[in-house]
Amino acid sequence: MGSIRIEGLGRNFGGVTAVDDISMEIRDGDFLVLLGPSGCGKTTLLRMIAGLLEPTGGRIVLDGEDITGTPARKRDVAMVFQNYALYPHLSVARNLGFPLRVRKVAKDEATARVDEVAQQLEIAHLLDRKPKELSGGQRQRVAVGRAIVRNPKAFLMDEPLSNLDAKLRTATRRELTDLHRRLGATFVYVTHDQVEAMTMATRIALLNRGSVEQIGTPEEVYDRPASVFVAGFLGSPAMNLLDATVLSARGAVRAEAPGVRADLWPGTTEDIDVVLGVRPEHLRPGIGTEPVALIATVDSVENLGSEEIAYCTVGDAVVCVRSPRPIAMRAGQSLTLTTDPEHVHLFDRASGRRLE
Ligand code: ATP
Repeated sequence: MGSIRIEGLGRNFGGVTAVDDISMEIRDGDFLVLLGPSGCGKTTLLRMIAGLLEPTGGRIVLDGEDITGTPARKRDVAMVFQNYALYPHLSVARNLGFPLRVRKVAKDEATARVDEVAQQLEIAHLLDRKPKELSGGQRQRVAVGRAIVRNPKAFLMDEPLSNLDAKLRTATRRELTDLHRRLGATFVYVTHDQVEAMTMATRIALLNRGSVEQIGTPEEVYDRPASVFVAGFLGSPAMNLLDATVLSARGAVRAEAPGVRADLWPGTTEDIDVVLGVRPEHLRPGIGTEPVALIATVDSVENLGSEEIAYCTVGDAVVCVRSPRPIAMRAGQSLTLTTDPEHVHLFDRASGRRLE
C-alpha cells in the first residue's frame, strides 16, 4: 500500500510562498503527475513528501501514518532525482545496492536483489561500470533501479527524463509506464512537460503559484479544464481563449465577442463577462448557420506533414485551427468557422473558473 494524504501543506521561503495550503489525496497505485509552469511549487511539494524539506504548515500522511516529522531515510519512499545523483566512485552494482547497505540488509540477500532489479531494467551487463562509463539513458535506469531495489511504498520522481534526448525520452516514457504497471506502486512524478503528463499519468495535479488548480485523469483535465489557467496550459497549440459576454434573453443564452456568436444552452438568467474557449482541433469551416459561428480571415497556414495549422483573425483576436490534411483553408481567405456547442468552454472572467 502507498496512499499519501496531504493536508493543508505549505512552505514559505522568506517572503515567497512556494506551496500554499495544498490538500490532496494520492491513491495507492496512482501515477500522479505534478504538472505546472516553472516556479509553481512542484519540486517543493515533492521534496516535502520525500522528507528533504520541512513544511511551514500542514501534514503528510502515508498509509494512515503521520510522517510529517519523520526523517527522510526513515520514510518508506524513494526519490529519483533529475540529475540522478549517482555516486561517481561506486560501480553500478554498489550504487544499486546502496539503499540496502544503509538498511543493513544481509549481503547475499542484497546481491540477489540487485541482480533481480538489474535484470528487470536490462542493466545486468553494466554492473561493474562506474556512472561516468554509462550513457544518459543507462544512468537514468540505474537511478530508477536504486529506487526500486528496496520496494518502497512510493516512488518520487523529479523530472527524471529531462536530461535525455527527445527520442530516448519517448522510449523511456513507455518504460516508466510499464514499470509502474508491473510494480503496482504509487508514483509521484514532477514535470513541466504536458506530453509526459498526458501519456504517463493516471491522474494529473495541475499546479499554479503554489496551489492546485485541478486534479483529474488526463482526459478530465483536457476535456473539462476547471479554469482558464488549465485550459491554456494543456494542449498544443493552446486552446483559443476569447473575451466574450454571455447575454441571456428569454431563456436563450448567447455568448458574443467581436466576430463570434455562440448560441448555447438555456437556463442562465445573468449577463456575465466570460472567457470563451475552443480547442484548435475542434474548429472547422462552416456555413454560418450553425449554433456557433466565428467570422474569420485566414492569415497563414502551416503544413506540419500530417496536419495543418491555420492562424486566423477573428474580431481583434488570433484564432488557431488545427486540421488533418488536406485543409480547406488558404491565406487571405474569409470564412466562417464553427464547432459543436459541447466543445465550447466558458469560464467566469473575474474568477477564471469554469462555468457549468
Ligand atoms: P521548476 O519547474 O522550475 O523546477 P517548480 O515548480 O519545481 O519549478 P519550485 O522549485 O518548487 O518550483 O519553486 C517554487 C517557488 O519557490 C519558486 O518561486 C522558487 O523560486 C521558490 N524557491 C524554491 N526553493 C527555494 C529556496 N531554497 N529558497 C528560496 N526560494 C525557493
